[in-house]
Amino acid sequence: MAQMSIDLEYINGLLEEAKGMTGEEIDKILDKAERFEGLNHKEVAGLLQTEDEKHIDRIYQIAGKIKKEIYGNRIVMFAPLYVSDYCVNRCRYCGYNCTNKFERKRLSMDDVRKEVKVLEKMGHKRLALEAGEDPKNCDIDYIVDCIKTIYDMKFKNGEIRRVNVNIASTTVENYKKLSEVGIGTYILFQETYHKPSYLEQHLGGPKRNFEYHLTAFDRAMEAGIEDVGGGVLFGLADYKFEVLGLMMHNEHLEKEYKVGFHTVSVPRLRPAFGNDLSDYPHLVDDKDFKKLVAIIRLAIPYTGMIISTRETKEMREELLKIGISQISAGSNVEVGGYHASENAGAQFDVADERTPIEVLSWLIDQGLVPSFCTACYRKGRIGEAFMKITKEGHIKNLCHPNAMTTLYEYALDYGDEAFQEKVREVLKREINNIEEDMIRDITAKNLKLLEEGKRDLYL
Ligand code: SAM
Repeated sequence: MAQMSIDLEYINGLLEEAKGMTGEEIDKILDKAERFEGLNHKEVAGLLQTEDEKHIDRIYQIAGKIKKEIYGNRIVMFAPLYVSDYCVNRCRYCGYNCTNKFERKRLSMDDVRKEVKVLEKMGHKRLALEAGEDPKNCDIDYIVDCIKTIYDMKFKNGEIRRVNVNIASTTVENYKKLSEVGIGTYILFQETYHKPSYLEQHLGGPKRNFEYHLTAFDRAMEAGIEDVGGGVLFGLADYKFEVLGLMMHNEHLEKEYKVGFHTVSVPRLRPAFGNDLSDYPHLVDDKDFKKLVAIIRLAIPYTGMIISTRETKEMREELLKIGISQISAGSNVEVGGYHASENAGAQFDVADERTPIEVLSWLIDQGLVPSFCTACYRKGRIGEAFMKITKEGHIKNLCHPNAMTTLYEYALDYGDEAFQEKVREVLKREINNIEEDMIRDITAKNLKLLEEGKRDLYL
């Protein structure tokens, strides 16, 4: 199998060339996107370079249409869980940089249980486990123990049903351990696809090895992990270069393993202990950020897109309309931060500090249906199989009812009366939007069963 690589000259050349695309050529690319066919990286280069307001308006309009047709009005919820801030790397932008002096922490299994208890009380069912890189203080067996501890916890009303993992690039052997313990998606941000900027930012530690980081998903796939989630830390290098890198990475995975990214994350650089944002000439402003999110939505319409609490409420609201399908809520980005909020040592500062129920109410007010569904993974709808179902348009019949039942379960278990009433109104409206009679009947029955005390009902 060929390994992922990046040709810097090729991408720069492509960006130059794309400046010469005619209005007609851009129109053709947009027509293709409007048929939900996705775009190749050359077509993406054309959209990144267009300055024509008429084309940019159309990009947003198509992004909104894709979001509506493929994802409907549901939005998947998750929370990050930071288990260790020990780190041997010197990433200039990151609060965990090993030259930053603060007392490092790693959760004991008892601490993990305490954190998960708080997260469960917030209603979360899906976590993203996060850690710094330290082969001694946070080796793969520790990560596997954390995951087992989380999956073993059962509460009266529920449990964490999917643990996605965002840990450093590692060996095939270690990825096999993650695969065996049943992780959801393996997430790794390339940070930047631009090698000179990568080397400028990663001054020391194993992460400095650009090629090893870039080929992580090849090793993960070889180890049997089927769902991988990519991303770029926007602000480290020219965003146009980054989007093309990301798209070429997706094409590489599709070519070699028949399945591209399961999700793409679009974090933007935030202030953190030890970094100074004025050192970063490529910070992405809101206007460009919205445009790049919409372009990614057009290029890979069937890939979930994630934003975190790095973005403000206002920005999240706008991004939800043009492509984002997963968001975090009530996040704490400190190790042990959920059960002891006075801790210091966050990886970065969050921009949205609302509680999950506030976030849910805000989503509902926008006509959206927050979803705690984890069914696909548990039903074996992963990797290539997941993409096939999605592309054939079946996902609507599964995800929409599952969003409804998981939201109702959440309201019954964690909401007060006012919130429950609000959710019942949503369900009344949404049940009529289920097209197939049989699915509508099953969903109505499941909603009733939830009221009678049954839990974890899904299609
Ligand atoms: N240690 C693992 C690695 O090296 O890939 C896991 C990464 S860390 C827990 C999660 C992500 O946070 C990083 O990949 C990085 O993109 C992001 N991050 C670090 N510092 C940040 C900052 N100042 N602002 C926004 N995101 C940041």
